[in-house]
Amino acid sequence: MGYLGKLYHLIDLSSALVPYHFIKSGRAFTPMRIALMVTHRCNLRCAMCMIVERDAEFRDKDLSTPQLKLIISRIPSRTLITFTGGEPFVRRDILDLLAHATRDHRVNIITNGVLFRDELIRGVVSMAPRRLFQKGPILVGVSIQGLGETHDRVVNVKGAFEKAREHVFQLQEEKKRQGKSLPLLDIKSVITDDNVGQMNDLVDFAKEVGADFCTFQIVNTQDSSYGITDVSEDAYLTPPPPVRFSNIETLREQLAIVERRKKEVPFEIRYNPILPPGEIVKRYKNEINIQDYGCYVPWTTAHIGPGGNLFPCYSINCGNLLEKTFDEAWNGAVFREFRRKLRDAKIFPGCEGCCFISYRGKRGKD
Ligand code: SF4
Ligand code: SF4
Repeated sequence: MGYLGKLYHLIDLSSALVPYHFIKSGRAFTPMRIALMVTHRCNLRCAMCMIVERDAEFRDKDLSTPQLKLIISRIPSRTLITFTGGEPFVRRDILDLLAHATRDHRVNIITNGVLFRDELIRGVVSMAPRRLFQKGPILVGVSIQGLGETHDRVVNVKGAFEKAREHVFQLQEEKKRQGKSLPLLDIKSVITDDNVGQMNDLVDFAKEVGADFCTFQIVNTQDSSYGITDVSEDAYLTPPPPVRFSNIETLREQLAIVERRKKEVPFEIRYNPILPPGEIVKRYKNEINIQDYGCYVPWTTAHIGPGGNLFPCYSINCGNLLEKTFDEAWNGAVFREFRRKLRDAKIFPGCEGCCFISYRGKRGKD
């Protein structure tokens, strides 16, 4: 982690730890990060995606431009907003929404890269600030699930890899043209049986495109209902379904290579959640001990579903931001009770696999 990353992590941790330990009511300071699901629609059909499975249920439920702008305006100004979905670039008003968000916020965009091209790239780069702590798009995460046909097979769309690759290069060229180093580029991959043998190749890919980060996402089997269907509080009391994964030896080998490469590449390779390699193997073998984990995240982070509901992680509806102010939802009775329960429990059985979970064990050996 670079100097700025460490500083950000320190600020993040202290804004969680102070209220976690000292504010018994469950209130939190203003959030550091908000994930804003601007749509559930997507142009791809990834095998592991629960959104795809529930497409019919979610279709036609996007908010209008004025509604989303109202919600964005209600998010406290120093918060980093992650535009996510679904695929944010299926929305025709996306540049308008991003421009609205960049007036007062730093922005992160997560995309599959297929529709992110030409005027969209030019628009995003022109909104990007010169410095990391200034307002505007500071980070773009592009999901690449393997190289070439592997990616196309996972996302179920032929030619998706080539398009994403071309657009990533376009983004880098545009940054050069405008003389900007931002938005930073993150190549993101969920490790599955399909791509585990290509982890090292994905590091090469990140190097080839001049990425700033290469992130390996540990598979998550939680069903958060994606902010549309509210879930009962019991959802986090039950462990999620086990990971289905068979290539454990390949995973061990690839992790060893990736660990070595961390020292030689000019960018950051990271795992999400942050875990030692041995713990990642345990996760894929369904052998982690949930008591080795904890979580402060609901004190700094929340999600907004495509209908405008604010929720901590599981889709426990803490209030709709079309009807409530941000603080009424963020520090309302439901959210505060969730935080109090999490603090009492330290971690819930349903947290297994969550990408925000924090490892507190001493050993990661499998
Ligand atoms: S790109 Fe993302 S939202 Fe779209 S199908 Fe794949 S995992 Fe789901
Ligand atoms: S670890 Fe658990 S409480 Fe923390 S963000 Fe994830 S699901 Fe929520």
